[in-house]
Amino acid sequence: MSTSSSDCIFCKIASGAIPSASVHEDADCLAFLDIAPLSEGHTLLIPKRHVARIEEMSGEDVARLTRHLPRLAEAIRSAVGATGLNILQNNGRESGQAVFHVHFHLIPRRADDGLGYRWNAGKYAEGRAEQIRAAIRSRL
Ligand code: 5GP
Ligand code: ZN
Repeated sequence: MSTSSSDCIFCKIASGAIPSASVHEDADCLAFLDIAPLSEGHTLLIPKRHVARIEEMSGEDVARLTRHLPRLAEAIRSAVGATGLNILQNNGRESGQAVFHVHFHLIPRRADDGLGYRWNAGKYAEGRAEQIRAAIRSRL
């Protein structure tokens, strides 16, 4: 993990080399409007330090970043007069990640806004949930 990556668009935004519509900035993080919003007010919260995925961050660094989410969520939602808000964070191309610098999406939602995603709820075969539970616990 490096402090910045020369070919990373969000590092350039964090350093000010590329302009952004920022709504909050401090020593460690930046929040700015997404250039291609899913809804008005769609905001991205990033650490200034380059890191591709959340699994590569320390708990302390994640806490330093995510502590801003409640206040940002309330400010963003009320600023655009939305009633709901999704927080989304993608890791890996398969998850939808396109920019490989950690970011949280804050997406204002309204009734009947037409947004959403496929939520194909599945079902565990007999014994499978227990196997997976054990595999996760053994790695923590
Ligand atoms: P991802 O799919 O990686 O979770 O989301 C990346 C997000 O970054 C997208 O919603 C995209 O619109 C946004 N984005 C990409 N390039 C820029 C940029 O140069 N400026 C801003 N403000 N947002 C960007
Ligand atoms: Zn970066």
